[in-house]
Amino acid sequence: MNIYVLMKRTFDTEEKITISGGKINEDGAEFIINPYDEYAIEEAIQVRDAQGGEVTVVSVGTEEAEKQLRTALAMGADKAVLINTEDDLEDGDQFTTAKILSEYLKDKEADLIIAGNVAIDGGSGQVGPRVAELLGISYVTTITKLEINGSSATVVRDVEGDSEVIETSLPLLVTAQQGLNEPRYPSLPGIMKAKKKPLDELELDDLDLDEDDVEAKTKTIEIYLPPKKEAGKVLEGELEDQVKELVNLLHTEAKVV
Ligand SMILES: Cc1cc2nc3c(=O)[nH]c(=O)nc-3n(C[C@H](O)[C@H](O)[C@H](O)COP(=O)(O)OP(=O)(O)OC[C@H]3O[C@@H](n4cnc5c(N)ncnc54)[C@H](O)[C@@H]3O)c2cc1C
Repeated sequence: MNIYVLMKRTFDTEEKITISGGKINEDGAEFIINPYDEYAIEEAIQVRDAQGGEVTVVSVGTEEAEKQLRTALAMGADKAVLINTEDDLEDGDQFTTAKILSEYLKDKEADLIIAGNVAIDGGSGQVGPRVAELLGISYVTTITKLEINGSSATVVRDVEGDSEVIETSLPLLVTAQQGLNEPRYPSLPGIMKAKKKPLDELELDDLDLDEDDVEAKTKTIEIYLPPKKEAGKVLEGELEDQVKELVNLLHTEAKVV
């Protein structure tokens, strides 16, 4: 089975995020594998171990993404590919990323492509479905279970807490939802082996693409942090008085009743 994982390097949203010049400040930010892509990598490894084949992890980004690609190799992926846009592109959006990925994938005869359901930074959830559309293959999003039997697949997807079971066929792109599996940590032997595994680097030229082919379709006007929360009010005194005060505040301050 020929399996590809789409992996994005993201900043860790658990860390404090600052903005300067309309952009998220990358200095001092921690960078990680997008958490949903960790589920994707784990699932790809499990499918390969059960069915045979090879797992290739692909990322569009700068050479800094090599670190996260090496981590994916240390988890157990076989090969990694970095499509480095640093010298060619300044701006990009979901169209850009999906177009580049689909051009890379179009002649790879992938049986299964696994992406994350959403990137925790950009958060649009568009890249996976866009890649499938561009490749003309089926896709199922937010999956929590995947069973492959020959050239058919049974997929369970999360629908806002409910489950939907879908029968489909390969080639297939799925996007991973939390609960799909428990991603493994890279082991020490895994980390050692990863150093020798292939990590290829490509540029737009290698994909016969130039800047115009992947020009962003959208423009980000502004990025800003949510407004600071105002301090809450703690009511004191007898319960009956607190209730009266609360109702009064709901009328006069919050103006919700
Ligand atoms: C050249 C270039 C310049 C950019 N410049 C900016 C910028 O200035 N400001 C800005 O905010 N954003 C920039 N971006 C990022 C871009 O706008 C989006 O973050 C990106 O297209 C993915 O959208 P998303 O984050 O909503 O991911 P989603 O669609 O939510 O991601 C879903 C899944 O798609 C896959 N995926 C997403 N991105 C990648 C990737 N890069 N490589 C491999 N798989 C991926 C992963 O599996 C991920 O889990 C740039 C992108 C490119 C290519």
